[in-house]
Amino acid sequence: MKHLHAKKEVSSSKRILVETSARHIHLSKKDADNLFGNSYSFHKLRKLSQPAQYSVRETLDLIGRKSTLKNVRIILPTRKNSQVEVSITDCYSLGIKPVLRMSGNTIGTPKIIIKGPNGEIKAPAIVAKRHLHLSDAEAKELNVRNNQKVRIMIKGKRALLLDEIITRVGNEHKSALHLDTDEANAAMIKGKTTGELL
Ligand SMILES: [Zn+2]
Repeated sequence: MKHLHAKKEVSSSKRILVETSARHIHLSKKDADNLFGNSYSFHKLRKLSQPAQYSVRETLDLIGRKSTLKNVRIILPTRKNSQVEVSITDCYSLGIKPVLRMSGNTIGTPKIIIKGPNGEIKAPAIVAKRHLHLSDAEAKELNVRNNQKVRIMIKGKRALLLDEIITRVGNEHKSALHLDTDEANAAMIKGKTTGELL
């Protein structure tokens, strides 16, 4: 008998790299100065997928009402405002309210103490909304615009259809779906994984 449903090929451009963002901290120049001392020179650890972004060897502690999370990664270069990105599990463990936000939008989010070698600051903590980074050319090829909602299917034993993914388009971006550790664990993502843009 003939196969009525031929296996559909996924066009390569619709294959999206899936990356897991572990908890991390973005710092303003002023907060970096307060935490590490004036114009401290950080030690680069790893380049990240997004152009110009990198992690450093130095870490910071997050101090919540219920617990402290030690050795949290810092992502540079410095930004206009400091911001902590944690998972919902982290929020429960720290004792703060989980508030889902796009990066940079910290209105109405809880503040948390960040402790460094030279002092402490308080900064807003968000649970990052799942998002898809795309350069202008990649967005054009996929026929999507900035700030649009898309869906991505991740296959596997804990296959997961992810809805409510916000696109972030521009040449400071490069194709990658960013999930937090709770989301990645839910889909049992380990190592290099891709998903299909639907
Ligand atoms: Zn991201």
